[in-house]
Amino acid sequence: MFWNKEMETLKGDDLQVLQLRRLKATIRQAGKVPFYTKQLKNVGLSADDINTLDDIEKIPFTTKKDLQGGYPFGSLAVPLRDVVRIHTTSGTTGKPTVVGYTQGDLDNWTELVARNLTMVGLTRDDIFQNALGYGLFTGGLGFHYGAEKIGMTVIPSSTGNTIRQIEMIDDFGVTAMNATPSYGMHLAEMAAEMGRTLPTLKTCVFGAEPWSENTRKRIEEMLGVRSFDSYGMSEMYGPGAAFECEERSGLHIWHDMFFVEIIDPDTEERLGPGEPGELVITPLVKEAMPLLRYRTGDITMILEEECSCGRGAQLDRITGRVDDMMVIRGINVFPSQIEHVLKGIPEVGDAFMVYIDRVNYLDELTIEAEIRPEFFSGELRDLALIQKKIIKTLKDVLSLRTNVRLVEHGSLPRFEGKAKRVIDRREEC
Ligand code: ADP
Ligand code: ZN
Repeated sequence: MFWNKEMETLKGDDLQVLQLRRLKATIRQAGKVPFYTKQLKNVGLSADDINTLDDIEKIPFTTKKDLQGGYPFGSLAVPLRDVVRIHTTSGTTGKPTVVGYTQGDLDNWTELVARNLTMVGLTRDDIFQNALGYGLFTGGLGFHYGAEKIGMTVIPSSTGNTIRQIEMIDDFGVTAMNATPSYGMHLAEMAAEMGRTLPTLKTCVFGAEPWSENTRKRIEEMLGVRSFDSYGMSEMYGPGAAFECEERSGLHIWHDMFFVEIIDPDTEERLGPGEPGELVITPLVKEAMPLLRYRTGDITMILEEECSCGRGAQLDRITGRVDDMMVIRGINVFPSQIEHVLKGIPEVGDAFMVYIDRVNYLDELTIEAEIRPEFFSGELRDLALIQKKIIKTLKDVLSLRTNVRLVEHGSLPRFEGKAKRVIDRREEC
């Protein structure tokens, strides 16, 4: 199902012509921001010098730090009286970034979310529980307006009050839900404890943080739903920049509103399809806060194969942020890889934590994992066998020796928004 078939399936020359026209307009809009006036002047460039899409490589990158440098309103290209809303990032990696929206920006964002939700089969007949945080975080409001635009019955439940959330799903006959995967997992666990099977719930959208295929399998089994990955960030309006379609073979990034590049984060060289690197996005129609070649810090790649649904470019699942990557005794590991391994082992429960320590000048990775109650016999011998199995599986997949500590079900933290599962204690050593 399409929300805007013409834009969603635009290809070839038609797409390039549109992207180029919008790129030039974006450069002109960016020229109203002092930071960009300076950046463009430094390289002696104006919109008139951009004649092909590849000319974008002449433009310097923008980093999160650049935006933080403009705190609070230095990155706006319009006067505040034209800004109708402000959000900020969650500040996972430092000072939050302030994002402003004109009415036109909000309309475009709503259009994207409506496309995404339609793409996964939702219609005005759905009852949609929006369990992402409302407030400065873009998740709640972003989805809210898109779902309303389609005409769904929207329940702005936000996060927290999990028992009430589960009761509402049952009592209101909720058919679709949106949450972070961490919160989805917590909700599934709690529903099981309450003996609720949530039979009306059919579709879930999970995003705002990395999650793995094994996590998907597990949540889908627990909730009896089909689930879809949703990617976005405040700098690109919020959620909805890229989304899975019903094929679930990658994240379609909306090519009429975002121009995408992948670069090697160290050399800044542009990489081709199939090569993993850092995602760089130039939004093509932003008014209040235009950005040029924004380094998202997220690791992914452009997929080579075309999707059978007829829409354009797809990104691979986001592995994590460049700065999430742990280098343990020379081996690169993302928390999402650990999650993938753990969720594939039946005895391991749904919560885990990762600790990094430095012992005798060597990095040590310790994983605390909960054991599912049905496997928690209390017998030391059984526990030792499970522990051995986890260590071996982690070793096979990550080529890394880890320490594994097993803990009882319910003893590790649960997260309502984005999870913080990695604790680096090396600084303290
Ligand atoms: P902050 O950068 O402070 O966390 P945001 O709330 O804007 O602020 O979060 C955006 C970031 O969340 C993305 O850059 C990415 O790292 C992460 N993210 C969002 N959706 C996904 C997803 N589906 N998979 C993996 N990571 C995601
Ligand atoms: Zn598709």
